[in-house]
Amino acid sequence: MSGRLKRGLQALTVVAVAAYTTLLLYQGAAQLPPSRPSQQMFAARQVSRGWQERAPRSVGRDYDSLSLSLPESAPPPPTPPTHRGPPPRPPPAATTALQDVFISVKTTGSYHRARLPLILKTWFQLAKKQTWFFTDTDDPEFQLKTNGHMINTNCSSSHNRKALCCKMSVEFDVFLESNKKWFCHVDDDNYVNVPRLVRVLSGYNPQQDWYLGKPSIRAPLEILNRDNTAQKISFWFATGGAGFCLSRALALKMMPVASGGKFISIGEKIRLPDDVTMGYIIEHMLQKPLTVIEQFHSHLEPMKFLRPDTIQDQITFSYSHYSKDEMNVVKIDGFDKRIDPTRFLSIHCFLFPYFSFCPR
Ligand code: UDP
Ligand code: MN
Repeated sequence: MSGRLKRGLQALTVVAVAAYTTLLLYQGAAQLPPSRPSQQMFAARQVSRGWQERAPRSVGRDYDSLSLSLPESAPPPPTPPTHRGPPPRPPPAATTALQDVFISVKTTGSYHRARLPLILKTWFQLAKKQTWFFTDTDDPEFQLKTNGHMINTNCSSSHNRKALCCKMSVEFDVFLESNKKWFCHVDDDNYVNVPRLVRVLSGYNPQQDWYLGKPSIRAPLEILNRDNTAQKISFWFATGGAGFCLSRALALKMMPVASGGKFISIGEKIRLPDDVTMGYIIEHMLQKPLTVIEQFHSHLEPMKFLRPDTIQDQITFSYSHYSKDEMNVVKIDGFDKRIDPTRFLSIHCFLFPYFSFCPR
């Protein structure tokens, strides 16, 4: 081969390699999300075709209707990179104290005996004055056990969308009357790590608008605009079963559209459950973003993936039944599974070993 031809071929090879590398790099970059993507970029392709009456908590039963299938045994979904909570920072001068927080627990008559004793024995003891139970029956026994903190919402005692929106509506109104700085909602199968909740809230100013929680779907929910069916609306919402918090400033802005029972009308209009309605009001109507706090956990996530050395950092936990014999629970040493099937007693003793029922 002549020297000239050889040099020509070498030059051609260099050009080809450079072009290929550029192409690879470009493709790689195109697959990476931009550092602050707009919500629309992550918009779900699935369009809701009506939400079933049952509230979407357990993915298998509910989110499936949106074809957002997410089996409970799968690793936790990556949380959306939008609206990620600011990195932990030292609390500002005016810190939040426990008495600034209003904790509402959603429950129902038939769950009182099954679910409330565990809460009353554990985390309720650390927030007796702040915690209120919103139910649908009068229950003198638990009225006594909670020091009068059971509120009968007079909402229907069923698990349909309307009944759940009715309860959330009353929770919201009672919070507004309380003059507390923070509204935090949880379900009756949540464990709340009270000091951690307070500590995390201290990092945010309740005089600013904050919607703190964790979504359990990978992309914002996309629904059809009922006022203009040619339009789609997409928004994030914090899963009610993981717990979420609203600052008073935000709640005050929501008042004109959501107080005095108006929350129910919005839920009726969009025909979506309570936690989704909350997201719709805040993200879509008020255009205030959800701030994702990873430390809220619903039983839509596999609890076993929570690292034992991070237990004290988590804000909420939950439990559920995969099947008759298998449960989705935090993996933690402690009490025997027969005594503590939900692991809440073990979590509590790990966090607060001085409690009298904890082994010493
Ligand atoms: N719930 C209710 N009314 C009902 C059934 C349930 O208010 O008829 C409440 C229940 O107390 C809990 C929440 O709704 O706080 C979620 O219920 P559950 O854990 O049974 O179901 P999930 O939706 O988590 O699968
Ligand atoms: Mn549940």
